Amino acid sequence: MATQVAVVGAGLIGRAWAIVFARAGVRVRLYDVNTLQLNQVISRIDESLQDLHQVGLVDDPAAILARIEVTENLVTALAGASYVQECGPENVAAKQAIYTQLEAACASGTILASSTSGIVASLFTGHLRHPERCLVAHPVNPPYLIPLIEVVPSSETSPLVVERTLALMRQVSQEPILVKKEIQGFILNRLQGALLNEALRLFRDGYVSAEDLDKTVKHGLGLRWALMGPFETIDLNAPEGVVDYAGRYGPLYRDVDTQRSGDNPWAIETLQQLDSERRMVLPSSQLAERQAWRDRRLMALIAHKQKSDG
Ligand code: NAD
Repeated sequence: MATQVAVVGAGLIGRAWAIVFARAGVRVRLYDVNTLQLNQVISRIDESLQDLHQVGLVDDPAAILARIEVTENLVTALAGASYVQECGPENVAAKQAIYTQLEAACASGTILASSTSGIVASLFTGHLRHPERCLVAHPVNPPYLIPLIEVVPSSETSPLVVERTLALMRQVSQEPILVKKEIQGFILNRLQGALLNEALRLFRDGYVSAEDLDKTVKHGLGLRWALMGPFETIDLNAPEGVVDYAGRYGPLYRDVDTQRSGDNPWAIETLQQLDSERRMVLPSSQLAERQAWRDRRLMALIAHKQKSDG
């Protein structure tokens, strides 16, 4: 059982990880190169804890906050930590530099896990003397509300490090999945990317408005997805399960797949058109208010799921 961890990088995700660990009784030392960021970190974590407390998702915000310590010194942050959650910038060079520092400063048994959204660990740990203690533990923002963690070892990662990381994630009430081999974007962002690429093409080619596309997920697919994944969905959507479903609807999906153009749907003209439709519904001045609304609704949904999940 881990009792003390370090979080390296105190931005959006680093702060959220600190809540995940401290909420589970683990002591956290949070480090960042940016002093300005560090100065604000405790008050921002406190705000999130108060919101969680209001919907009944945490009992004692003060006790959780007391387990989080902030430091400008990397060596202090790492002392006594059995696990490091790296939350630095999303680029290979920055992560390589951080991992070089971590390797030099950490005790030999310490696990070095990265929050990267899609870069495979071998690209920023391959140069180390001990890449076997490194892997990815990719969260979804914010991990104190959305529990999925993608654990992605490289071919060099030791099986024991994978096991210990999976166990730690369960210890702190996250839901880890194992990505069996390295692939850019892992599983979650590849699925999200497939949906976004298709959504942008349908919008660009004039089949649907931005608002109606969003409604398709909000009032359609997304309702089921809060309860189950796509495989369980199709298993339940034909009397005899997946093979029966494929017999009925497989040809449709195969046809649609062959019609996909494969061209780049992220052209600036498409994004500008999307932006103008979005800004009519939600002016830029109201973005922050809507983000806060989303987080509150998400908290209520999580509280509901915790009470009723089977
Ligand atoms: P962020 O920009 O909010 O935070 C990054 C922090 O790293 C900054 O505070 C910066 O000062 C700090 N930093 C820079 N160099 C450093 C160094 N050498 N040592 C220590 N700290 C350093 O970014 P974020 O959104 O928190 O993302 C962090 C990581 O988490 C990225 O790899 C990102 O892909 C991943 N992630 C982000 C999200 C998301 O939705 N934002 C979701 C999942 C994973």
